[in-house]
Amino acid sequence: MMLMARVATIDYEMCHPDKCGIPCVRFCPINKTKPYKAIELSEEKKGKPVIYEDKCIACGICVKKCPYKAITVVNLPEEVEENLIHRYGQNAFKLYGLPTPVEGKIVGVLGPNGIGKSTAMKILSGSLIPNIGHFESESLKERVLDKFRGTVYYDYFNKLYQGKLKVVHKIQYIELVPKHIKKGVVEEILKRIDERKLYKDVVELLAMDSMLRKDISLLSGGELQKLVVGATLLRDADVYIFDEPTSFLDIRERLKVLMALDRLLPRKSYIFIVDHDLMFLDYIADLIVVAFGISGSYGMFSKVYSAKAGID
Ligand code: SF4
Ligand code: SF4
Repeated sequence: MMLMARVATIDYEMCHPDKCGIPCVRFCPINKTKPYKAIELSEEKKGKPVIYEDKCIACGICVKKCPYKAITVVNLPEEVEENLIHRYGQNAFKLYGLPTPVEGKIVGVLGPNGIGKSTAMKILSGSLIPNIGHFESESLKERVLDKFRGTVYYDYFNKLYQGKLKVVHKIQYIELVPKHIKKGVVEEILKRIDERKLYKDVVELLAMDSMLRKDISLLSGGELQKLVVGATLLRDADVYIFDEPTSFLDIRERLKVLMALDRLLPRKSYIFIVDHDLMFLDYIADLIVVAFGISGSYGMFSKVYSAKAGID
């Protein structure tokens, strides 16, 4: 019989124990019949419940009883736990595995929202040190390297953590960019960071002429996206990460981004492009990793496929 592990997550934003009568705790069959509890209210969680995954039998009663749909409980094969890379906390999202870094290739990461693609990109950029499931203690680079020893990830993270990889990361939430760069005209921002001397190519390929004299605070979502994609291309890096480079753009603008990435990305670097647009990744990526899971509960990644096999 296959051994199963539980992943029980609670969306604490949606949990309102003061309004619901706490059916999740009251109706749990383990709480009713055993001398221990599978779910109980926790002081640490400010009076909201916690689920003990080692006691829970994944009957799903609390999931059905919760009027706010705050609970998800799934069973996964126990061996999947060996691939646990990061967990945000008790009863929080779990990330299993990472897209494989392949030097000199564009790795496209395809999959729906909410299953950890952006978390994986933060880990690959070095901005988030994964806790390998030890969310109760500080995340340690040594633990990450130990985890990956003997795998293709070790070389990448070893170089990354030694500062031997320069990373540029186009984040998913571009609306945060004006909060960091409060003022500045597009043309000046781009010229200031033009490490690869590609300013003219970027402006031409992304059709940015009409926005060059605009202040960053006045850009539309689509213009901001093009600015951030262009700025990422202008930097000289060993790792390029583009998280959703086509959101806010219509089909014509997407094609421009596609052409700019195809023409200007240096094919000697590690390159990751996350997108939900199948056609986009089919065109641009050399290799495809498929992300799957349940939004807000867990996410995992396939091995790398050739682009054609991955898309099929
Ligand atoms: S899934 Fe079933 S056993 Fe697990 S906490 Fe909910 S009610 Fe209890
Ligand atoms: S998880 Fe649902 S049923 Fe349980 S306390 Fe929160 S809102 Fe109530």
